[in-house]
Amino acid sequence: MFRQLILGVGNNWLVAHTMQQYGMQLGAKRFVAGATLDEAIQVVLNLNEKGIGVTLDHLGESVTQLAEADLARESYLRMLDVIHQEGVNSHVSLKLTMMGLGLSKDVARNNLKQIVERAREYGNFVRIDMEDSHVTTDTLNLFLETWAQYPQHVGIVLQAYLYRSMDDLKMLSETPKNIRIVKGAYMEPQSIAFPSKPDVDDNYVRLVKYSMSRGNFTAVATHDEVIIGQILRYVKEHNIPRDAFEFQMLYGVKQSVLEELAKDGYRARVYVPWGRDWYSYYLRRIAERPANLLFFARNLTKK
Ligand SMILES: Cc1cc2nc3c(=O)[nH]c(=O)nc-3n(C[C@H](O)[C@H](O)[C@H](O)COP(=O)(O)OP(=O)(O)OC[C@H]3O[C@@H](n4cnc5c(N)ncnc54)[C@H](O)[C@@H]3O)c2cc1C
Repeated sequence: MFRQLILGVGNNWLVAHTMQQYGMQLGAKRFVAGATLDEAIQVVLNLNEKGIGVTLDHLGESVTQLAEADLARESYLRMLDVIHQEGVNSHVSLKLTMMGLGLSKDVARNNLKQIVERAREYGNFVRIDMEDSHVTTDTLNLFLETWAQYPQHVGIVLQAYLYRSMDDLKMLSETPKNIRIVKGAYMEPQSIAFPSKPDVDDNYVRLVKYSMSRGNFTAVATHDEVIIGQILRYVKEHNIPRDAFEFQMLYGVKQSVLEELAKDGYRARVYVPWGRDWYSYYLRRIAERPANLLFFARNLTKK
């Protein structure tokens, strides 16, 4: 309900315009590493020093011009070059609507292929984020096509709030893959997504366990400490090797929990977004937690 409200209001043109002008001062900085890749690399270095890997995301989505998709591709190619030159531990995460999926599948396919090919040259890895349900099927299909050519260098995301995700996971698991499991951050109707949080949480745990049991490399992407506890018990009971999964969290959220996991010898990775197009990302972070709205309001009254 809270999420629907925030994401609904956030789509209003005036709200979007005002937020885009003042949002960095209004708290977006907490969740975004900076406007430039240089700033983001500093964050990567700090996290790497703590034994934590990163996946870098150049913020942006739903491009409507071919030139924007070209710029997005070039930015990701450069990111992979810089990661390699700096010798930092970081993958990249991208959104297919930033690569032009809204223009045509061919544009997105071609841009994705070039990026994954560059990742292969460097022995790196590209995660395709999962966006709203309008593009779920296309995202899975483009992932599968690219995976067939570059099985070690591309991975996908499944969202526990979607009813379809267990079927998708079973299909993907026919041959093990690299799958990040998340709860889901978009506004979806009850006809396709669990409306209640306990159902989403239960499905999340079911998906992670199934994914691990089928030999997928599983990225357990959640800040939910109850679920993390359940997964820790599961991996111990089932002797799941520590290099078969990792914990992932978002930059600015519960980093101390991830640091503890890294200290205990678990693989840990932070999703670090950077860039100027932070509005939609920030809105989803506010929508995830009512307290974030208070944080936003406190920054508003400080001005
Ligand atoms: C690495 C990573 C990658 C992701 N990629 C995708 C993706 O590709 N597609 C997609 O739809 N979603 C993605 N998400 C977002 C995800 O779907 C959830 O919206 C988000 O992780 C919140 O859910 P949760 O699992 O932390 O559980 P929740 O039950 O929402 O949160 C558990 C606890 O974590 C803390 N918390 C959670 N979110 C926040 C926040 N924003 N600010 C402060 N505290 C918070 C709170 O203490 C909360 O009680 C990703 C999340 C992570 C961690």
